Amino acid sequence: MPLPVETIRQDFPILSRKINGYPLVYLDNAASSQKPKHVIMAMTAFYQASYANIHRGVYTIAEEATELYESAREHIKNFVNARASQEIIFTRGTTESINLVARSWGDKNIQAGDVILLTEMEHHSNIVPWQLLAERKKARLKYIPFDEKGRLNLENLDRLLEGCKITAFTLASNTFGTKNPAKEIIRKARAKGTLVLLDAAQAVPHQNVDVVDLDCDFLAFSSHKMLGPTGIGILYGKKELLEKMDPFLGGGEMIKTVQWDHSTWNDLPWKFEAGTQSIAEAVGLKAAVDYLHHLGLKKIAEHEQSLVRYAMERLHEVEGLTMIGPPASERVGLVSFYFKDIHPHDVAAVLDRNGICVRAGHHCTMPLHKKLGLEATVRASFYLYNAKEEIDLLIDALKEAARFFRK
Ligand code: PLP
Repeated sequence: MPLPVETIRQDFPILSRKINGYPLVYLDNAASSQKPKHVIMAMTAFYQASYANIHRGVYTIAEEATELYESAREHIKNFVNARASQEIIFTRGTTESINLVARSWGDKNIQAGDVILLTEMEHHSNIVPWQLLAERKKARLKYIPFDEKGRLNLENLDRLLEGCKITAFTLASNTFGTKNPAKEIIRKARAKGTLVLLDAAQAVPHQNVDVVDLDCDFLAFSSHKMLGPTGIGILYGKKELLEKMDPFLGGGEMIKTVQWDHSTWNDLPWKFEAGTQSIAEAVGLKAAVDYLHHLGLKKIAEHEQSLVRYAMERLHEVEGLTMIGPPASERVGLVSFYFKDIHPHDVAAVLDRNGICVRAGHHCTMPLHKKLGLEATVRASFYLYNAKEEIDLLIDALKEAARFFRK
């Protein structure tokens, strides 16, 4: 049974909106996803009935709030198949999760001359924290290159892993859509004693991700790309590694004892959760995970695969349009493209006139675009509520844009 897209669409209030007189066609899911009423209602119900700060109060609603927050963690643990809930740290998003590892693990373990291995297709969030670490420690950054089809070239991987303490790479590229061969890279990294961090921001919302099967050391992702609210994200880390790491931020909650001259740290996972957390957001995220789990990630992945295949077939019809990245079968549900003679922002503006939301720009992958000799591209990215008919509308509007600017 394919995904019941028409029924699913009824769950997303925003999808009934009109933009400039046209039905909203939301194709910017790689940037952020829309929210089903289950998520919106779970957060509203929490604020209306059980809102309080967590872990501190001994009164009923504080206990209810704590229970909801901790059960969100349990849901996430099961969703990515972690061994223990201590391995699930709530952060503000993928960016903060990666910064946490670069600071807390990196400052303790990286020394002058060590290699940190990234890839040329990383989002800025998985480049800049490592650049800052490399500067602090005089370490060296190296990059696995990509080829003309947007696939990682692993020919020299063994050599790149020499002297490498950690490799951090994306499970799925937010610009090419490429699904990277994580297991192969992880196997080779393990053989060299190199740790692995996976940026799963574009993977966890769209396919089954199992941290035990992957055998990664850290995994980072964001709630807002998987139907949940903004302001909350996740860092999975192997317990034995997290236990040895110092806190990232200091403050309330992350301590066991505080004296004038020193403090001791709370147990995992709270050692990494300083200050009042995004409590209502955790409740919303839990509802999002339930929603995704109920539909099934396998079906969602199949649906997105059929959409990207169809989109790429039809994009060939648009004169002067060039797509970047691998064939549809090697991608998650997104496609980036450009016209040599029309600026991506102009394309996006014409699409917006037709109610269609796409992203135009460098998608936080400036070095990737620079290597391609491009400043920017247009990106259409799909999710479980998108329908083939919306791709037809995209193609019509792109043809119109091409006609308009070439007049
Ligand atoms: N990594 C990848 C691959 C992404 O696509 C994104 C967001 O676009 C991020 C990291 C950053 O996520 P956030 O802004 O939620 O921290």
